Amino acid sequence: MKKEVITPAEHKQIIKEFDLVSTWKLKADAVVIGSGAGGAVAAAELSKSGWKVVLIEEGGYFNPGNFSNDEFISQARLYRDAGYVLTENQTASIVQGRTLGGSTTINWQTSLYPPDYVTNEWRDRFGLPGYGRSEEMAAFIEEVHARVGVHEVPPRLINHNNEVLMRGGKAIGLHPEVLKNNSKGCQGLGRCGLGCPINAKQSMFLTYIPDAIAAGAIVVTNMRATKISDGKVKKVFAEFTPDPYEAAPGIVIEEMEIEAPVVILSAGALEGPALLQRSGLGNDMVGKNLKLHPTSTIFAKFKTDIDMWHGPPQSVVIKDGHNQRNTGYGFWLEVAPFRPTLTSAIMPFYGSRQFKHIKDYKKLSAGIVLVRDGADGQTAGKVEWSWGKRKVHYEMTPTDGKNMLLGLKMLAEVQTAAGATELIFPFGDMQEEFKTGPGANFDWVLQKTFEAGRLSVGSAHPHGSIQASSDPKTGAINPDFELYGHKNIFVMDACWIPTGLSVNPQITTMSSSLRAARKLAGQKSSRVST
Ligand SMILES: Cc1cc2nc3c(=O)[nH]c(=O)nc-3n(C[C@H](O)[C@H](O)[C@H](O)COP(=O)(O)OP(=O)(O)OC[C@H]3O[C@@H](n4cnc5c(N)ncnc54)[C@H](O)[C@@H]3O)c2cc1C
Ligand code: SF4
Repeated sequence: MKKEVITPAEHKQIIKEFDLVSTWKLKADAVVIGSGAGGAVAAAELSKSGWKVVLIEEGGYFNPGNFSNDEFISQARLYRDAGYVLTENQTASIVQGRTLGGSTTINWQTSLYPPDYVTNEWRDRFGLPGYGRSEEMAAFIEEVHARVGVHEVPPRLINHNNEVLMRGGKAIGLHPEVLKNNSKGCQGLGRCGLGCPINAKQSMFLTYIPDAIAAGAIVVTNMRATKISDGKVKKVFAEFTPDPYEAAPGIVIEEMEIEAPVVILSAGALEGPALLQRSGLGNDMVGKNLKLHPTSTIFAKFKTDIDMWHGPPQSVVIKDGHNQRNTGYGFWLEVAPFRPTLTSAIMPFYGSRQFKHIKDYKKLSAGIVLVRDGADGQTAGKVEWSWGKRKVHYEMTPTDGKNMLLGLKMLAEVQTAAGATELIFPFGDMQEEFKTGPGANFDWVLQKTFEAGRLSVGSAHPHGSIQASSDPKTGAINPDFELYGHKNIFVMDACWIPTGLSVNPQITTMSSSLRAARKLAGQKSSRVST
């Protein structure tokens, strides 16, 4: 078999080579489901340790040869639900990748690892030791950093959108910091969200997936796992998923059935629990305690051009509001590179008022507040597979809601200090922009409601829906990420992260997957012998 990603274009040849009738049946040591931050790293690690690995990915294979600068086309092809996964009550929207490399193909490069006070909570509440930066994790984080090119964003690449935080934050005595990104040779072309056209961003399709293939893994795109059946040897059933824009070739492999003693589920925090539930696997915690690490946006209008899409999306953070555990860790300020479609979807205006602001798109900066989620204990978020559909339920907890308001107040002060003239707040009952300038007071923000539907909330960081814990009453997987009650079924992706603030989860996901996969790889003789 050819040593490259298997896309629908190769199906005809495979059907011929293996004389297939309808289903492609394969045997492996491990099947990995999903090719994002978790799955790609796990597949590479196991393959390099001599395991025979098959990785399947629901989305297609896109790279600089076929990324598009058209937002509508890219969102439909690279994002789950075309970029608009909505909660059942329609009050929060979630963005997730659905392509080879998962969300890392379209994410914004920010590369952070949680502070010790967060990892200490993982240890103390969930019996998950060793995640501190000075502990066992340090070596894994360093290894991941080296592979995906993590470095501080150089000053020449800090764009106007991020400068708003830097300038405004300093003006009011805060402490903006420069962020780290994962790229090599970034030219600031500003297309991270649509796929980097020059392979500067070190996404999984460029790093760990080629590593896996080079070590012998079979990687198949456009294949969606529909069911996992347990047993000494497990079976993963998958079906062909076509690209929404390009017609599929006339002959395709419609189904796959992969047998392996070990299954690694890495389908992300929304699809992973849904797959386990429809397969009848796991305990009651599967799907529960979903965290979104929610964000809320203030659009600030300036007299000069901001061009928020231009340059690396995120290069500055303000952490002054993110401090004490007794405030549920508070909040964090960043910016977002919202392109016109997302800007119009997020802006709480309609009709002529919306048109007026979108016409001034070049002068808008999008500041975001992030809160941890679950500051009051468990969250009200959950994923359920019901009536043939994955459903997401979510509401912010009271302490997170208060932190969100505190963050919005600070963000408005920062944007005003940076020279904004108008602010568009995310409150559904504010149907006018707020004229701002020196001396503007934002105490009133703290009186606003954060009730679901009254405050616009979004997320790019769902996690925790197959939570890890040393106690099956509070977790669905054990500290080695093995599913309670099901030997040799592992979950290696953002699902395990038990509490926010995981603060931009890609590095946490990659390095924890590396740690878990390396431990598993060393147990080949006991895990794989059938
Ligand atoms: C727009 C955007 C910007 C972001 N920016 C940042 C950032 O700057 N910094 C940061 O740290 N994090 C960022 N994130 C989040 C980060 O990318 C994710 O937390 C991380 O990639 C999660 O890894 P994962 O393996 O859990 O899921 P993913 O990387 O999302 O991968 C899951 C994969 O599984 C596939 N899949 C799902 N179901 C099935 C199935 N049934 N069969 C086969 N395949 C399936 C999906 O198609 C997907 O490709 C961003 C995310 C988005 C969407
Ligand atoms: S900013 Fe541009 S060049 Fe840099 S990683 Fe993103 S898309 Fe690539």
